[in-house]
Amino acid sequence: LTGPFHPQKLAIAALGNSGSTGADGIEGDIAYFPSFDALKAAPDAAVKGKIVFIDNQMKAAQDGSGYGYFGRGRFVGPNAAAKKGAIAIVIRSIGTDSHRNPHTGVTNFEAGVTPIPSGAISNPDADLLVRQWQHGKPLRLKLLLTPKTLGDQPSGNVIAEVPGSDPKASPVIIACHLDSWDLGTGAIDDAAGCGIITAAAKHIMAAGQPRRTIRILWAGAEEVGVFGGKAYFDAHGKERHAVAMESDFGADRVWRVDFKLPEGAAGLADRIAAALAPYGITRGKQPAGGGADVGALIESGVPTIDLQQDGTRYFDIHHTPDDTFDKVDPAQIRQNVVAWTVTIGLLANSADAELP
Ligand SMILES: [Zn+2]
Repeated sequence: LTGPFHPQKLAIAALGNSGSTGADGIEGDIAYFPSFDALKAAPDAAVKGKIVFIDNQMKAAQDGSGYGYFGRGRFVGPNAAAKKGAIAIVIRSIGTDSHRNPHTGVTNFEAGVTPIPSGAISNPDADLLVRQWQHGKPLRLKLLLTPKTLGDQPSGNVIAEVPGSDPKASPVIIACHLDSWDLGTGAIDDAAGCGIITAAAKHIMAAGQPRRTIRILWAGAEEVGVFGGKAYFDAHGKERHAVAMESDFGADRVWRVDFKLPEGAAGLADRIAAALAPYGITRGKQPAGGGADVGALIESGVPTIDLQQDGTRYFDIHHTPDDTFDKVDPAQIRQNVVAWTVTIGLLANSADAELP
């Protein structure tokens, strides 16, 4: 922040697919918007030639429900600002912490829209900017972001199976993703998920052979656009799958189970819910949504179950330098492994009539 007050350095991270300011940076007046909707409603003249700032403070929630609403500032805010003629955009991080860590993540520009420099500043820095804004004088920002777009690079999926005893039975597929953002180590997003599902499959294997095959998908390149999940679907989407599930919401405890199963699986859902109840997991009333890497399968009609994790602190850490192994609570990740073992054990031994 270069003016009109004493200059202040801000902690900023470039968003995925951001344009570059060039090595010299750019400077401009800030156009303040309290929300993505306010930016959308603004006339082009309020934005043209300026650096857009979207305030838009995400609220923590156990089910992480704020991400969809507040996340729009990141997912599509830069595209909207670029189309209105902004020279750059800075958003308040889509995060719930008070550390001076900006949260990165992907943003997407429509075909034909030139990506503008797009960054997220930490919550305390956004607070500082807002305090200055409240004085009512135009704010100046000098922005230096020099990301490079290298084009598509090779990635890969890793697939493993616990072979079932009945080769005619459709498999249970469980997924996580291997890649993470550059700022942290990816311990909670999503190494934890890969650890949880793999440990559960290993417990099933140790207990004896299941009837259905359990297929484990460690997907590559999720964060940049779910390329691994799409590649799996392109290769295997026409095969039968009994059910598809994903663990991609950190390492904190499972608190709710949601189902989206066929009519014939009512008894199976009851058995799973009853088996999970002793671990403090309640049955949700809404249909399960699945996860990004199995999203294409679920859209094609494959049933799914969500083991919903407590997301209260997930967005303190998500896509920041704080995503490190020490944030994984051993007691809570063990509860996840128990919940997954119970669930996929029942799924892998379910009857043909219960699942496709
Ligand atoms: Zn993830």
